[in-house]
Amino acid sequence: MTKRTSQLPGFYKVTVAERRTLVSEATGVETLAIARSLDGGGLDAETADKFVENVIGTYGLPYGVTLNVRVNGHDHVVPMVVEEPSVVAAASNAAKMVRAGGGFAVEIDEPIMISQVQLTHVKDAAAATRAILAAKDEILAMADRAVSGLVARGGGARGLEVRTLGVREDEMIVVHVLVDCRDAMGANLINTVAEAVADRLASLANAKVGLRILSNLCDKRCVRVRCRVPADVLATDAMDGRAVIDGIVNASRFAELDSYRAATHNKGIMNGIDAVVIATGNDWRAVEAGAHAYAARNGRYEPLSIWRRDGDFLVGTLELPLALGTVGGTLRVHPSARLSLAVMGVTEASDLAAVAAAVGLASNLAAVRALATDGIQRGHMALHARSVALAAGANGAEVERIAAIIVEARDITVEAARRALDVVRADRPSSGQLSAASD
Ligand code: NAD
Repeated sequence: MTKRTSQLPGFYKVTVAERRTLVSEATGVETLAIARSLDGGGLDAETADKFVENVIGTYGLPYGVTLNVRVNGHDHVVPMVVEEPSVVAAASNAAKMVRAGGGFAVEIDEPIMISQVQLTHVKDAAAATRAILAAKDEILAMADRAVSGLVARGGGARGLEVRTLGVREDEMIVVHVLVDCRDAMGANLINTVAEAVADRLASLANAKVGLRILSNLCDKRCVRVRCRVPADVLATDAMDGRAVIDGIVNASRFAELDSYRAATHNKGIMNGIDAVVIATGNDWRAVEAGAHAYAARNGRYEPLSIWRRDGDFLVGTLELPLALGTVGGTLRVHPSARLSLAVMGVTEASDLAAVAAAVGLASNLAAVRALATDGIQRGHMALHARSVALAAGANGAEVERIAAIIVEARDITVEAARRALDVVRADRPSSGQLSAASD
């Protein structure tokens, strides 16, 4: 059996075909399977037509892998689907720093989702609450019957909560049925439960049924990540590691005190998480909604991660709700999504959530370290230069050449790239041949 490693030195320097071979050797996934699941975006229009409505085609995005990720003592090569330059490189680089301190330690809650049933026209909220709580066992059994397949796999209803909302003249009751969704994200399962128990709840409460749907604020399904990074690996040419730690703690304090900064801080975390969520065919809107609602849980929008100094170490912690599935849903039958789980080496939803959250903390570390040292633009714009060169019309080998010219000139704009392209092409009149020969 392949011993999984996520350390593949020089990976970025080789061709796409060579990278597939290296990933195959590191993960045991055949190169043919990689090609079959990724070429053409892994999805044809006919299959896509079964997923959503009014399909006229599909839309490709880059599929990269983040390296060096070690979570609870296990290595993972982590697929990321993202259009933004530098996200994959930054996460790999930061994961390498975290690795020097032993990798990510992740704790994860049971996969409990919340099914919400709204009851309106409540005459006596206190009496309704008592009646519902007294019928708890009956309601949970009803919920289990509605999702018997899930119960057979070890999941099912786990608890009941009743909340009163609103003011006396406009009071409503919301019942939460808590359901263990095992390896599923759970939205459809939870909605099934809500619809199955709603009428009985309304009759117990002498009220009318309102909405019946899951909550995306799945705060009983949280992931907590911790890392401890030695100062020396954080150092840059201009700053020693201890000064970098001070800068990162300062960045963290800024986010803790200011919601404007916290939003951008959290965007840096979601750069990593969303890319993994999309690569594995999960619902990134649900993940985003849950993350930001959790960030605002104390009445003010706050950062999801905190950075502190511990002697000569930087300690980072991240906590957020994460409802991910390795089964169910439509997109998880997408060949590229199936491939991502195989490359990552995860089958259980809890392991997927642990890895995704770890990559989120890595992305955050990369961003705050860059901000605390060189500034974000240096690394980011150098990688962005390739997209700018493409936008200016560069082809094949021209792309790297034009990118290098505009980075050197510190003018990473489409106009500068067009001027550079004119000069390069004037030097070589047959630029069409140049790009064809180098492709
Ligand atoms: P699903 O409807 O496919 O249900 C999961 C199925 O997998 C169940 O039939 C279950 O019995 C089965 N299963 C097999 N092995 C399992 C295991 N080990 N653990 C758990 N279940 C197992 O999918 P879902 O997860 O209920 O719903 C996810 C979908 O719902 C996503 O596509 C999401 O986009 C969508 N959705 C989201 C929202 C929202 O977030 N607000 C609302 C509606 C729908």
